[in-house]
Amino acid sequence: MKILVVNAGSSSLKYQLIDMETEKVLAKGGCERIGIPGSVLKAKGNGQEKVYEKDMPNHKIAIELVLHALRDKGIGVIKSMDEIDAVGHRVVASGEYFKKTTLVTPEVLKTLEEKTFELAPLHNPAAATGVRACKEVMPNTPMALVFDTSFHATMPEKAYMYGIDYEDYKQYGVRKYGAHGTSHKFVSSEAAKYLGKKPEQLKIVTCHLGNGSSITAVDGGKCIDTSMGFTPLAGVLMGTRSGDIDASAVEFLAKKKGLSHADAVTYLNKKCGVAGISGVSSDFRDLIAGEEGGNQRCALALDMFAYQTKKFVGAYAAAMGGLDCIVFTAGIGENTPTVRADVCEGLEFLGVKFDKKANEGKNDGSIREISTKDSKVKVLVIPTNEELVIARETAELL
Ligand code: AMP
Repeated sequence: MKILVVNAGSSSLKYQLIDMETEKVLAKGGCERIGIPGSVLKAKGNGQEKVYEKDMPNHKIAIELVLHALRDKGIGVIKSMDEIDAVGHRVVASGEYFKKTTLVTPEVLKTLEEKTFELAPLHNPAAATGVRACKEVMPNTPMALVFDTSFHATMPEKAYMYGIDYEDYKQYGVRKYGAHGTSHKFVSSEAAKYLGKKPEQLKIVTCHLGNGSSITAVDGGKCIDTSMGFTPLAGVLMGTRSGDIDASAVEFLAKKKGLSHADAVTYLNKKCGVAGISGVSSDFRDLIAGEEGGNQRCALALDMFAYQTKKFVGAYAAAMGGLDCIVFTAGIGENTPTVRADVCEGLEFLGVKFDKKANEGKNDGSIREISTKDSKVKVLVIPTNEELVIARETAELL
């Protein structure tokens, strides 16, 4: 079975074609600048790469070009479109409308479009556009919506509720939904496999640390709490997102800066986080270079990030009543040893014995153990693979 995984953004469309028997990526690539002059598809297959500079005024043309690339004489990996058994679409937000991976039908698409756009206005409309474009080009191929939020659907009420009027929660669905669910699901199940245990036997804290960061408590293979909230603005401070902040401070700031409600939220999403603290960059490589050069605000941003992440690890160990494993993943989690060391420093009381030398080792794309052999709590670096989870979920649904 071959599954095409599609991750559509407002002006981009990333894809992977995965052979489910071997779970090998047969082809991958991405269209950029869809609807903007200068659109381009960079595609890989058969160990080769090809760049298509072609006008892509919309997502339909983009997906047509992707299908063409998949059948290309040089980089192509299939002969006919019929070889694609299904398409799995990444969707950021589900609200309470979808608890799990869902087959696309006209009703499902209608619910996605009518109910969920306001929950993720930057992401969900793009996903729906991607689904519609694929449906036009491949009308008979089954398609699934795979939600970033699904893995968090097992959170108990006490974890996902905010302390607001219950009737407002009922009427408007304002509660914690979380994000990065496919990544947390993947790395927690990989951790169990690596440790030779069943997921049911483990209490794991997964730290997805990237441009957006979230931390999840996975107890017995199920999410019981996560740091992101109603939207991906909550939790630790991120590249440009503030993370958790007192709502009164938001109103105060908005008044002082003369911002509307919407502009204040945009400010918290785009102008804050480590970029706002450092005044230098949202990229951790720049922050580390800044700190090494004596920049105090870069040092502060890095300190805040590690401190806030560490606090979630501690809180989730308490919530689960124990801890067997901490997992680091995503851009920062996989590539930035100093952040991992700072997060784990002082966690000896929980049973973490950190292996500094192993932590400094090269990222070779494999799972790496960065705790000592006798550490009660295992600390692992696990490369995430959200596309594979989307493909697996789609295959399972079929
Ligand atoms: P992500 O959102 O998961 O792609 O993570 C992106 C962030 O990871 C970047 O903003 C960097 O701060 C950080 N990072 C650190 N080292 C690397 C690296 N070698 N490759 C990619 N990202 C890195």
